Amino acid sequence: MKIEAAILGQCGGHHRPYASGAPLDVRQVDLAAPQRGEILVRIDAAGICHSDLSVINGDRPRPMPMALGHEASATVEALGPEVSDLEVGDRVVLVFLPSCGTCVNCMSGEGYLCANGAAANGKGELLGGGFRLSDDGEPVHHHLGVSAFATHAVIDRRSAVKVDRDIPPEIAALFGCAVLTGVGAVLNTAALRAGESVLVYGLGGVGLAALLGAVAGGAQPVYAIDPSPEKRALALELGAALAVHPDEAASLPKADLVVETVGKAVVLAAAYAAARRGGRIVTVGLPNPAEMLSIPAVSLVADAKTLMGSYMGSSVPARDIPRYLGLWKAGRMPVERLLTSVNPLSAINACMDELAEGKAIRQVLLPG
Ligand SMILES: [Zn+2]
Ligand SMILES: [Zn+2]
Repeated sequence: MKIEAAILGQCGGHHRPYASGAPLDVRQVDLAAPQRGEILVRIDAAGICHSDLSVINGDRPRPMPMALGHEASATVEALGPEVSDLEVGDRVVLVFLPSCGTCVNCMSGEGYLCANGAAANGKGELLGGGFRLSDDGEPVHHHLGVSAFATHAVIDRRSAVKVDRDIPPEIAALFGCAVLTGVGAVLNTAALRAGESVLVYGLGGVGLAALLGAVAGGAQPVYAIDPSPEKRALALELGAALAVHPDEAASLPKADLVVETVGKAVVLAAAYAAARRGGRIVTVGLPNPAEMLSIPAVSLVADAKTLMGSYMGSSVPARDIPRYLGLWKAGRMPVERLLTSVNPLSAINACMDELAEGKAIRQVLLPG
């Protein structure tokens, strides 16, 4: 079938403003029918994440051309062979790493480290192998098994989590990346205990989600650091006791748990220094692969700090997305406050400018 999708032809080398250079070309491409274990979905809402921007600016090298987008909610339109646990019309949240269920990581309960899912994502293919997207007969790569900046997508069944139909699509979408990553980093990776103090570096979608997770999990107090006064004001509204500019980070007390969401090695080093002796630092940011981290090696032992990396919030999406949606429904995790705007698919390049300028938290596209 013919669909509309935002295609990136080249990783890096684009000049801003993106609104005029248009690195993402919204055009018609071909989408093949779902194969065994796959589903066809209509994309109801797709969030724009900094990781999408990192593919455009070259910080996250990916095979090209690629249909971008990895955070979305969708409606099931067709089932491929051997999919029996979903129905046409079901609402799903898409997950940016499918877990195969059979590799050593999956069998160890670490589906977020699935070797087969990671290999497929690295190649820009679906978990079942190959491409369902093509342009004039030439393959188009899938972004993290999802490619959500499009009217439709064919995805592996294991890239979808069924959710209740009454959740607004633009809210549900945010649970696929920002919430899963940010809340999961605090509740799963760092295993927050109620009453611990938490400091969040960076108040983008993931950082604010981490803040929401910390508040919902009983952290006390919660601190936040970001250069944007608007984002700091929002952090205070969402439960932070203090929110300061990075230049004033030294004025904050050392925290039990520091969450780094910026994706710069120098910020991670600052986050490491901001943890108390015996404290833990969890990082979810994705620095450019060339960046090296520099911290005093002796402090790991002498200060007994624990530095943790967290991919996809150490999440089990089919368990955690419904749990976090439950917290949202109960009013204990106001994820809707992260929503900056809803936009047509055609606005995608201008949205990328807003994100690059630090003006947006989560912009959502309504492609389907
Ligand atoms: Zn993301
Ligand atoms: Zn696996």
